Amino acid sequence: MRELTESEIRTAFLNCSKGEAKRLNLPRELADQPWAELDFLGWRDPQAPDRAYLVTILDDRPQAVVLRSSSAATWQPRRSICSLCVTTHTGGVSLLVAPLAGPAGRQGNSVGAYMCSDLACPLYARGLRETGTRIHESLTREQRIERLRENLAGFLAKVQGGETG
Ligand SMILES: [Zn+2]
Repeated sequence: MRELTESEIRTAFLNCSKGEAKRLNLPRELADQPWAELDFLGWRDPQAPDRAYLVTILDDRPQAVVLRSSSAATWQPRRSICSLCVTTHTGGVSLLVAPLAGPAGRQGNSVGAYMCSDLACPLYARGLRETGTRIHESLTREQRIERLRENLAGFLAKVQGGETG
């Protein structure tokens, strides 16, 4: 994806108030992110590690989501799979919960998904970062990237209430 500016990212949030989007912590060095290798940029809030964010470009516009680590996720299977990039980790996967966009989110409705705890799915899909847990897959790198993008688009649709389940 192309490089995004701070103001583009702040105005792209779908599921938080404008005030919150203005205040939340962005990665320090935006220009240093490996944009060309990213389908989305994900980061943890350095001041609130249970909070995470991701931003992508979908339908030609930046779209960003606020996420929280689920407090209910104290039990973790020994081996778990990211629902976006389908990377298998031993540890290293978090249940992240996104409030729904709009009134549904303000009423406390949310959607959860298991994701790589470091939100580096684009790097895993490209083989640029690896876990200790190797599972053989017959997909090509392009197919893994395509699958990641589809899964991400599906998750964003859920956040916007376009889908249930
Ligand atoms: Zn992942």
